Amino acid sequence: MNRRSFLLTTASLISPPADFLRNAATGEISRPADDGRNLVEGLAQAPNVSSSGPWYAVMRRCGQINYNDRDPLTIDAEAWGDYWASLKVDAVLLNGGGIVAFYPTQVPHHHRSEFLGTRDLFGEMVAAMKRRRIRAVARMDCNLAYEDALKAHPEWFERNQDGSPRPHGESPWLFATCMFSTYFSEQMPAIYREINQHYPIDGFFTNGWPSTGALPVCYCKNCRRLFEKLGGVPPTETDASNPLYRKYYEAYMDRVQEIWHLWDNIAHERNPQSVYVGNLGGGLDTVKDLKQISQVAAWFNADHQGRSGETAIWDCAQQGRVAYSVMQGRTVTNVAGAYSNAQPTWRHVSKAPAELTLWLAQSTASGMVPWFHWLGGSPEDTRWREVGRSFFDWLAANEAHFRNRHSLADVAVLYPQRTVAFYSRPNSRRPRHRGGPIDYLQGLYYALLEGRFFFDFVHEGDLNPVTLRKYRALLIPNAAYLGDTQCNVIRQYVKDGGSLLATFETSRYTEWGDSRRDFQLADVFGAHAAGEVIGPKGNSYARMEAQHPILEGFKGTALLPGAENRVSITADSIPLVLSVVPAYPAFPPEMVYPRTPRTTEPAAVFREIGNSRVAYFAGDVDRTCWRSGNSDLSQLLQNAIRWVSGPDSVVSVNGVGLIEAFAWETEPGYALHLLNYTNPNMTHGAIRNIYPLGPQQVRFRVNERRSIKTVRALRAATNLKFQQQRETVTFELPGIADYEVVALV
Ligand SMILES: [Zn+2]
Repeated sequence: MNRRSFLLTTASLISPPADFLRNAATGEISRPADDGRNLVEGLAQAPNVSSSGPWYAVMRRCGQINYNDRDPLTIDAEAWGDYWASLKVDAVLLNGGGIVAFYPTQVPHHHRSEFLGTRDLFGEMVAAMKRRRIRAVARMDCNLAYEDALKAHPEWFERNQDGSPRPHGESPWLFATCMFSTYFSEQMPAIYREINQHYPIDGFFTNGWPSTGALPVCYCKNCRRLFEKLGGVPPTETDASNPLYRKYYEAYMDRVQEIWHLWDNIAHERNPQSVYVGNLGGGLDTVKDLKQISQVAAWFNADHQGRSGETAIWDCAQQGRVAYSVMQGRTVTNVAGAYSNAQPTWRHVSKAPAELTLWLAQSTASGMVPWFHWLGGSPEDTRWREVGRSFFDWLAANEAHFRNRHSLADVAVLYPQRTVAFYSRPNSRRPRHRGGPIDYLQGLYYALLEGRFFFDFVHEGDLNPVTLRKYRALLIPNAAYLGDTQCNVIRQYVKDGGSLLATFETSRYTEWGDSRRDFQLADVFGAHAAGEVIGPKGNSYARMEAQHPILEGFKGTALLPGAENRVSITADSIPLVLSVVPAYPAFPPEMVYPRTPRTTEPAAVFREIGNSRVAYFAGDVDRTCWRSGNSDLSQLLQNAIRWVSGPDSVVSVNGVGLIEAFAWETEPGYALHLLNYTNPNMTHGAIRNIYPLGPQQVRFRVNERRSIKTVRALRAATNLKFQQQRETVTFELPGIADYEVVALV
């Protein structure tokens, strides 16, 4: 496109939209002559407008083609339009600008693609989507800019302590921009407004910002000024024990909210239904406060594209749970990388189809909208295409059953944001006993999967009586950093009949990590901290001292494995169930015998107060379970969860296999999602084969007045025999391949 047709396009925005029509029967699109108006025909059409909310609130499928600087030479916009239409996506993310402009921009220092020539690639791509009634979201990048911008606007860029700018590791001709500079408050807005003015887009997305990871510290003039206001200089250690860092954290979160809000308002300038969405993700491991971000975010995009190393396959479902805990039914998408994004990463070959499908399946099971992503406009590997197409086809054919109303889970797991963010960050001066920031939650999670529990995450910023009311038990995996307010809510929850499981240093510190003399929840635990943490030490044990439901199944042993770290505690006059056997040498064998075989120090405290049951473990049993993979510790945790949550859970699934389960009330009825993780590549390497599971016995409690007419396995595409007695529906699911969704209508 030359400058003339670019201007024509601009002019056509204010003239009546061109008459493009899609033939509903054949899907064919009639196009008028190419008079330069073809970019805007989508304006007249408003696909997927729902009376119940903006377009993105009802979106169920999303795609992204992430084209590169060179792609304008070869990319075929219409072919991409056809591909995305074949996936029946509601929206596609298309590279607009930021680092590289894919249209003839007039904004100074907004770098045009070297290979753009006379093309308006972004405009063509938007038009190709609009012709197919697909929403177009401009994918932007605000994090890097070229050297000419650095020369003209040195104040836009992040600086090291010596004042040098920060070049990108792999593309050192690009430099990191600073969020506190006018690059974010003026330059990006100028670019957004230019795109708003020329293209019929439905929103903006920024790659890489704000992210949920650790906060960078920048030494540019803006940031030095900010730190001066906060009362110091930029700290070298980003540790919450540093009072200046605490203030910086708050200022940083304020700025994130301010920028998000500003950019969202600019999106609205074009159209009230247009939206800005940032880049979040990070799975369980988040430093930035998601609750705060959710207050400005109309749409949460998790950029959680794949896994590497020893990361478990359920990493994507965990992301869904974290996002749901703050969005609570509002739009959440998750990016699934169709390329092989393990370590090392390959951007231009496909991920194993079975791995990719299970990743997409976890997105939908956990209530997220899958966002299917490929990199590069002219792929030489096209194997990923059919993987996305067949999964999205199936989603579209069963769309109503993916419209969730709310989760039916009756167990809550506290998502301890500040403990994850501050308690044991790598590189901070953390005490030896502290594991990785998410190890505690990982261990509990594994036990929850093995025990086939139905649970939700509750974000600690959302701890209140209304949120907790629907759950029979609250599980707290070492929420060491907990504010007084949160502790009071937990105390009241137990008083009101809720049950509790907590581990290790839960409530031992304030929300910023200042030490308390005792657990703030000591009265609830019925236990008091009697000293510093002991550990890390292997070869310690818990001795079974009395019969208790929590010890069910441990026949033939007097000892259970001990936690690697423990708080030494005293208990309020309660029968001793598990006592601590302190660590003793594990080598050489001649020395392996307990020096103190029996103590009265409790390893855990179990109490019943009215209808409430409280289980408190003084050791980091959850983290030790995760680190060791020990099956006794998982069994102990499962027994404890079962004991605090009580019998007759809302849904139960009995059978062989490691699965993850979600139960939703949906618009048409109910949906039970079952993910089969039983696989040798469950915790390493890409899933390449599926090992199907046999029959599963399901009990599903529905609303008492609801008479179920059909129970259908949507992946197997078969109706199941079932029985309903009052509110309980029972049926046998003959098997699960990789993923099954059973719809009860
Ligand atoms: Zn800065």
